[in-house]
Amino acid sequence: MIRSRFSKPLKELLSKDEWLILQENYNPAENLTYESLFCLTNGYLGTRGSYEEGTDKSIPCTYINGVFDQSETFMRELANMPNWLGIRLYVEKELIGIENCEVREFSRVLDMKKALLVKRMILRDAKGRETLIEGVRLISRAHLHRIGIRLYVTPLNYQGLIEVESIIDGSVINFCDAPRFKVKHTYMTDNSAIGETGAYVEVATRDRHQHVGTGSIMRIEQGGNDIMKSRVFHPFGEQAVEFRDFELEQGSTAIITKYASVYTERERQRNHLKECVSREIDDFIKSGFEAEIKDHTAVYARMWEEADIRIEGDFELNRAIRFNIFHLMSTGSESDDRINVGAKLLHGEEYGGHAFWDTELFMLPFFAHVFPRTAANLESYRYHLLDAARENAAKNGYKGAQYPWESADDGTEQCPAWTIEPDGTCYRCYVADYEHHVTAAVAYGVYNYVKITRDTKFLYGKGLEILIETARFWASRCEYNEIRERFEIRQVTGPDEWHEPVDNNLYTNYLAKWNMRYVLELVQYCRENLKQIYGELDVTETELAEWNCRQEHMYLPQGRDSKILEQFEGYFKLREVTIKAYDENDWPIKPDILNHLDRQQTQVIKQADVMMLMYLLPEEFDEETRQLNYAYYEKRTLHGSSLSPSIYSIMGLKVQDASKAYRYLQRAAFLDLKDLQKNTREGIHAANAGGVWQTVIFGFAGVSVLEDGVLCIEPRLPAVWNSISFRLHYGEAWLEINISGSQARIKRLAGDELEVRINGKSTWIK
Ligand code: BGC
Repeated sequence: MIRSRFSKPLKELLSKDEWLILQENYNPAENLTYESLFCLTNGYLGTRGSYEEGTDKSIPCTYINGVFDQSETFMRELANMPNWLGIRLYVEKELIGIENCEVREFSRVLDMKKALLVKRMILRDAKGRETLIEGVRLISRAHLHRIGIRLYVTPLNYQGLIEVESIIDGSVINFCDAPRFKVKHTYMTDNSAIGETGAYVEVATRDRHQHVGTGSIMRIEQGGNDIMKSRVFHPFGEQAVEFRDFELEQGSTAIITKYASVYTERERQRNHLKECVSREIDDFIKSGFEAEIKDHTAVYARMWEEADIRIEGDFELNRAIRFNIFHLMSTGSESDDRINVGAKLLHGEEYGGHAFWDTELFMLPFFAHVFPRTAANLESYRYHLLDAARENAAKNGYKGAQYPWESADDGTEQCPAWTIEPDGTCYRCYVADYEHHVTAAVAYGVYNYVKITRDTKFLYGKGLEILIETARFWASRCEYNEIRERFEIRQVTGPDEWHEPVDNNLYTNYLAKWNMRYVLELVQYCRENLKQIYGELDVTETELAEWNCRQEHMYLPQGRDSKILEQFEGYFKLREVTIKAYDENDWPIKPDILNHLDRQQTQVIKQADVMMLMYLLPEEFDEETRQLNYAYYEKRTLHGSSLSPSIYSIMGLKVQDASKAYRYLQRAAFLDLKDLQKNTREGIHAANAGGVWQTVIFGFAGVSVLEDGVLCIEPRLPAVWNSISFRLHYGEAWLEINISGSQARIKRLAGDELEVRINGKSTWIK
C-alpha cells in the first residue's frame, strides 16, 4: 500500500493504489517530466508539479486558461503567471530544501481520485539535522479561485526556531530554461501586503494589459494553536514574501498552510481584483483547508462517477488509462465557453496552450459522452470565433470561414509563419499555410457532438452556421481541373505532416466533400421540416447547387490496381520504404534509408492519415478496403506524432487484425507516464489522452453510434481483461455498461428507455 508510507493525516487522506501515481526517488533529471505528470488543474488554472522550495531544474508554470500574450515571441501563448507555490523553510539560515540536503526518504504521489499532490521527505542538512516534511497541494475544483498547500513539518533530531518564507514570485518568464526563447509576458502592477502580512502580486499581460491578481496568507499551527511569532511582509522587486517564524520541539509537528487565490480581469473588474482575492482567501481560511479538500474531493468523486473506467485483470494499464482521463477531465471547463483545451493541456509550454484539430477529433468524443457540458463549451468556443475564422478565410482569399490551425483566445492564426531552431536558424513554417483540414475537423466536431449529445438546438442554430461557413470555405478552396473534369484541392498538408504540401490529399478531399454534403442534407431537412429556420439560413440556391456540384465531382485519389487508396496524388510514385525492424518493445524502428533520404521522398508517414479518414467516415469504405489499407499503411507509419497509435489500435480492431491493437493501446496509455516521446516535460499529450479513451471505449468495448442513431456495442476485449465497466451519456440517457468477454450488460441511470444493439441484436434498455 503506497499510502502506508505517509504519516497519519496523509495516510488517511490518500486513496488506494489503483488511483495513485508514485514517484519513489528524487532525481533532478526527471524534474521537468514530473512537473508535467504532477500538474494539477481545475479547468480554470493549472500549476505544474514544481517543488515549493524551488529546484535548479524547474519550469514552474501556472497558466490561466484564456490569458494569452505575445510580446516578443511569434504567437500569443499562455502567459506564465506568478508562481504561488513558494514555501521555503530555514533552520539557522540554512534552507531545508530537497537540493540543499541529503534526501533520506522520498515519496511523491499524485492522487488521481482526489486530484491532490502529496509528498513526504526526510531531509538531512549539513549539520546532521533531520526534518520530516510532508504535504498536500490543492487546486480546488469546488471553488475555482482557491488554491493551497499544507505542509507538516517535524524536526526529527533537533529543536529550535524555524523560519518560513511564503513567496509569490512575479518574476517568472516563459521558456525560462531556453536562453534563446525566454520571454516575459507580464509586468508587475502591484506588490503589497494582503490581510495583515500576506503576499499579493498583481501583474498585467504586456500586449493587452489584462490584469491578474495572486495572493496568499500563511498560517502556522500546532495542536490547533497559532504558533507564529514574527510576522513581516517584504516586497522584493517582483517577489512578494510573507515571513514568519516559530519554535518547535523535537518530534512535534507544525502545520503550515498557505491559503492562496487568483482572480483575473476575465472574471472581475481590474480595480476590484485585490479585494476579490482578499475576500476569497478570508473565506477559504474561515471554512478551513480540510473543508476545502472535502468539497473538492466531493466534486472529483462526482466527476469520477461519470468518467471512470474499471478494468478487471490489467491493473497497471487501468491505472495508466485513469491517468490520461484524469488530466483530460481536469483541464476541461464546465463553466467557461470561451476557452478550449490546449494540445498540451495546461501542463507545459509547448504549443502555447493552443487548440488544434486535436480538440474535435481526439478529445471531444470523450467530453461529449462523459461531460457533455464541457463539450458544449468547446463547441461554443468555436462559434464565438466564427467571425475571426471568416476574416481568416477572407485574408487568405477564400470565402466562408477558415479556422486557424492553432487557435488561442481571439481566433486569429497562432501557428507561427517563422520559427527559430535551437541553433538559431530561422525557418519558414508552412503548417498554417497548408494544413487546412482543421476546418473540416471543426465541422466534423459539430456533427459528432450532436450525434452523441442530440443537442439539435445547437445544430439547427449555431452549429449550422458554422457548418455553412466551413462548407462555403471548402467550395471556394477547391479548383476545377478542366482537363480531368473534377474538383481538386491542391497544395495542402494532410494529417501526415511529413509530406508538405501535396495535391489532393485523400483525407482532406473526403472531409471537404463530406462537409458540403452534410450541409446539403441539413438544409434539405430544414426545407422540409423546419421552415422558419430554413427561411433564415444564410445561403442561396445557387450556392447550394455549386456545393452539390463540387462535392459530387470532388477528386478522390483511388488505388490503381487494387483497393489500396493513394494518400495523395503522387504518393505511390514515392520511394517505397516500409518498416522492417521493431525494437524490444515491438515499436517501429526508423528505416536506415531515412538517414540519407528526405522522408518527403519516401512513403514513410508520420501519423494516421488514410486510416484517420477510414476511422472518421467508416461507411464510405467496405471492409476489404479498410483491411487492405490498414495492412498497407501500418507498415509505413512511424508514429512520429502521439495522435497516431490510438487510431491504429482502433482501426486494427475494426478490420479484425487485433494483433497489434493492445500494444498500440499500451503505447498510448503509457506515452507520458513513461515519457516515451521524450517530451513529456513540455506537457501532457492531450490528443493522445483522448485517443486512449476512444481506443478503450470505441475500440475494445466496441461502442459506436450508428447512422440510424442506435447505440451499438460489439466488444472485443483483449484476452487479459476479465471485464470492463464504464458510464456514458448518450442523448438524454446516462448508461452504465459492463462487459465480460463478449457479453455486455447495460443499465440505465438516467433518461428514457432506449434501443441498443449488442453484438448485432437489438434490445430495449428499460
Ligand atoms: C501533429 C498534429 C497535431 C499537433 C498538436 C503534431 O505533431 O502532427 O497532428 O495536431 O502535433 O498535437
